[in-house]
Amino acid sequence: MPTALPPSGKPLISEEQIRARIATLGQQISADLAEKKETVLLTVADGALIFSADLSRALSIPIYMDQIAVSSYEGTASSGNIKLRTEPRLNLTGKNILLVDDILDTGQTISYLISYLEQFKPERIYICVMLDKPDGRKVPVKADYIGFEVPDRFVIGYGMDYDGLYRNLSSIFCLD
Ligand code: IMP
Ligand code: MG
Repeated sequence: MPTALPPSGKPLISEEQIRARIATLGQQISADLAEKKETVLLTVADGALIFSADLSRALSIPIYMDQIAVSSYEGTASSGNIKLRTEPRLNLTGKNILLVDDILDTGQTISYLISYLEQFKPERIYICVMLDKPDGRKVPVKADYIGFEVPDRFVIGYGMDYDGLYRNLSSIFCLD
């Protein structure tokens, strides 16, 4: 059993702040993609599952939904060794992909996924992340939509884990 306790005290980003920001993001994305071709909201599991579930319901445009799963983290450090664990099921050719992930940190995961997804010849790939840690960047990647910019600290909650735990916290906390 884990020995670390769940965090207490003030969250870095509260449930209310998350809710408000997602409503705004949903309106913005819906307006941008309304006139475009079919959109597939492609969730990067597991970290983005909760964010994506909320974001999808803040969108007022028709979307297909699919998931891919990747793993790269061990403890609080990215192994940099990204593995694709499940592939998309939908045909992505000619579609607008809204790729939704939890955190953009070093950029390795998103740049790996962009290269991987290009083989399907999508119309365009839009990147949406809940959190951006610009100070952690090792490869140049920019998101089209960002929930919050955060400092280079390890965070948990709202889908984000520490060794598999704490994804179910409703707010986002710093672990260190
Ligand atoms: P990147 O490849 O370094 O950009 O890392 C992106 C992935 O690392 C995210 O999808 C997260 O799953 C994970 N990650 C990065 N920072 C954190 C963190 O502070 N807490 C939990 N997971 C993180
Ligand atoms: Mg992740």
